[in-house]
Amino acid sequence: MNNLAAFQRDIEGIACLTSDGELRSRARDYYWYSPVLDAQLRDCRADIVVLPATEDEVLRVAAAVARHRLKVTVRGGGTGNYGQAVPLQGGVVLDMTLLNRVLEIGPGFVRVQAGACLEAVLNTVRAEGQQLMIYPSTMSIATVGGFIAGGSAGIGSVRHGILRESGTMRSLRVVTLEEQPRVLTLKGKDVELVHHAWGTNGIMIEAELALVPAVDWLQCVALFPSYPEVIRFGSAVQASGIDVFLLSAVDRRFGPYYRDFGARFDGSADAIFTMVNPSDRARFTELVQKHGGTLSMCMTPQEAQAAGLPPVHECAYNHTTLRALKVDRGWTYLQMVVPVDRAPELVAQQIERYGDEMLMHHEFARLAGQPRLSGLVLLQYLDEERLDEVQQELRQDGCHVMNAHVYVLEKSGRKEMGDEEIRFKHSTDPLGLMNPGKILSLS
Ligand SMILES: Cc1cc2nc3c(=O)[nH]c(=O)nc-3n(C[C@H](O)[C@H](O)[C@H](O)COP(=O)(O)OP(=O)(O)OC[C@H]3O[C@@H](n4cnc5c(N)ncnc54)[C@H](O)[C@@H]3O)c2cc1C
Repeated sequence: MNNLAAFQRDIEGIACLTSDGELRSRARDYYWYSPVLDAQLRDCRADIVVLPATEDEVLRVAAAVARHRLKVTVRGGGTGNYGQAVPLQGGVVLDMTLLNRVLEIGPGFVRVQAGACLEAVLNTVRAEGQQLMIYPSTMSIATVGGFIAGGSAGIGSVRHGILRESGTMRSLRVVTLEEQPRVLTLKGKDVELVHHAWGTNGIMIEAELALVPAVDWLQCVALFPSYPEVIRFGSAVQASGIDVFLLSAVDRRFGPYYRDFGARFDGSADAIFTMVNPSDRARFTELVQKHGGTLSMCMTPQEAQAAGLPPVHECAYNHTTLRALKVDRGWTYLQMVVPVDRAPELVAQQIERYGDEMLMHHEFARLAGQPRLSGLVLLQYLDEERLDEVQQELRQDGCHVMNAHVYVLEKSGRKEMGDEEIRFKHSTDPLGLMNPGKILSLS
């Protein structure tokens, strides 16, 4: 009996998928945003997909994987952009989406299973007058575990900071990959070991997330005569203390990809897409006018839905890229942090330099209490050489470029693999079975 057959015997009774279609589709994520990754990863497939529904089943799977020395790639909603959830060496894809219960809600916190869909969690805590501090724009598909292990910032980061520093992740429970798996509880700084580690150092089964009082955020779009004006306005909003939950600058040339917004964003002006606290509506409107802008949309979520519009958060972060890619697969994207103090001038120079090769899109956030501006710009894809050349030019501009076209953790520029991280990796996955090939320093 081969290892896979012996593994299947050991996990009898736990849901599995083995059809060719499932083995291929659950080995994919949104890596196809990058033509480079698409060519490298499109043929990857799982040997089996396993869907544990309880903590005990996760422990049984972890023990059986270790016993039979199979590779394992944990999967949530499969919305990562860098092939994080792609099994490079086949083996088991461990789909966590049946582990999806909300376990406890208290004042200021929720305890959930890691496979829970973020939107479902948000709706549950909203019914109690609370809300999540941050969620990705993919929250209708993405899971709690996938966001913690694969994400970095999102809707709410302009108010609460990026995920790592926001205080959102209060504690995690993680299963080690050993013949006798242990369950670790991580709190405080230790949570960061698993955050953005791409499922290489344990299977997250549960998370406690901090909550804040719920707000019925207004869905707003404001238009400005130029893109640098949008950037100036965004900085002014941050400096004003107006309570916003999203602040996303979008170049007018995205207009053809936003036809559902009609005159609210039709390509004749550059835009900020934002979520504003109703209590700050008047101050926000005044600031738009002061900056020479026009408020083209300001609706409650219910009004936006009745008007057939998507939530504003689905016009931000990598949903902006998705809108363009749905119409024109010639685009790819670049990720960077832009020096905030000279952003309007720098972005103006970049618009001049790249012309129609690049479309601008920036997200305002906070880091250590200070404003942070991330660029998620579109680039017409020519070839890898041009991609590298443009990224190099952006670095020379003083931008911190995070390479979105690599599937190796350290090269993505977001996670350091220091001694502590490597020690933790060896203790949680001593056989090196978890998501192999994603950590350069171990390959
Ligand atoms: C249109 C679009 C918009 C996006 N917007 C954002 C955004 O606003 N902010 C942001 O940060 N990202 C964003 N992303 C990237 C992605 O959505 C986020 O990283 C998301 O949170 C991933 O969640 P998921 O459940 O889909 O995870 P997956 O893609 O399934 O997994 C992501 C990583 O986490 C690991 N993992 C999953 N579950 C577990 C677990 N239980 N234990 C251990 N490891 C686990 C996987 O192995 C993988 O390495 C976006 C992507 C797209 C395509």
